Amino acid sequence: MDRRSVLAGLGAIPATGLLSAQAQVSSSADAPHWPSPVIDLHFHMRSPEQSIAHQVGAGITAANLLTRADGVAQTAAVQASNPAMFPSWFGAYNVAAPDIEKRLTDAAKAGARGFGELKYQVEAGGPEMRRVYAVAAELDVPVLLHFQEIGQPAAPGGYNMGVKRFEGMLKAFPRTKFIGHGDAFWANISGDYAEKDVYPEGPIAPGGVILKLLSDYPNMHADLSANSGNNALSRNAAFTREFLIKYQDKLHFGSDCSCADGRGAGRDNPTVAPRIRGKCVARETLTVLAGAATPAVFRKIAWTNTHNLLGLKG
Ligand SMILES: [Zn+2]
Ligand SMILES: [Zn+2]
Repeated sequence: MDRRSVLAGLGAIPATGLLSAQAQVSSSADAPHWPSPVIDLHFHMRSPEQSIAHQVGAGITAANLLTRADGVAQTAAVQASNPAMFPSWFGAYNVAAPDIEKRLTDAAKAGARGFGELKYQVEAGGPEMRRVYAVAAELDVPVLLHFQEIGQPAAPGGYNMGVKRFEGMLKAFPRTKFIGHGDAFWANISGDYAEKDVYPEGPIAPGGVILKLLSDYPNMHADLSANSGNNALSRNAAFTREFLIKYQDKLHFGSDCSCADGRGAGRDNPTVAPRIRGKCVARETLTVLAGAATPAVFRKIAWTNTHNLLGLKG
């Protein structure tokens, strides 16, 4: 019996704490070491043990939890299991709710540092989202948007449609901090995107819509999560190096990974995009970033920018 087991047996360590500690010890053995500590802006919350296991397995230091605005108790339990690893959370709620302002305000009062991921079947410039943008500006918290035009097996239909027209929202809501994410967002890194492929490959044509949004609007940010972000960074190595330098203050590492262990477990199924099937998105994208960015730029994208945007100490 080792020292921890002895202490647990004596009641010195709560049972859940022991489980978490064991998960960390057992899964960190071959975890990768990144050029700087890493915070995952886009981590969908699971149980305390499952949340910790994923991040430790992928070599990630901390995560912003994405959760439901009415799941405050559940969120608190995950945060309590490892306060240093889970310093913050975002709340989401059906944007069509008649009392959406109250729901989101209550979430912010309960500690939410932002709203999202907001993934509902509405226009990004429609009346529902305008109400969200207004309350986010008032509360001074960012809004994380999933932009999608083409239906997918795990997410049929479109969500926050109209990223190509989104400049109008940046003009209308200059005090709202927007974080873009999702396949339609990242496909528009290329100026020739015609909404045919979900994850377009090949050369990136000049004039991408999101490059203009990131260049021209201080309140536009982007998270690099999911296959969509990984795909965009994997199209052209020279473009990616320049992109990371140019937007080093606007980009945020996120995983949006559904794997169980930080190594890809559970992602070998048809709902996962083939190019990243069976892999951990967090590991894949951090590998791309570590290869393409200088250590100083890596640190900004993987750590500092998210601390600044969310008002966290780091
Ligand atoms: Zn999403
Ligand atoms: Zn993973």
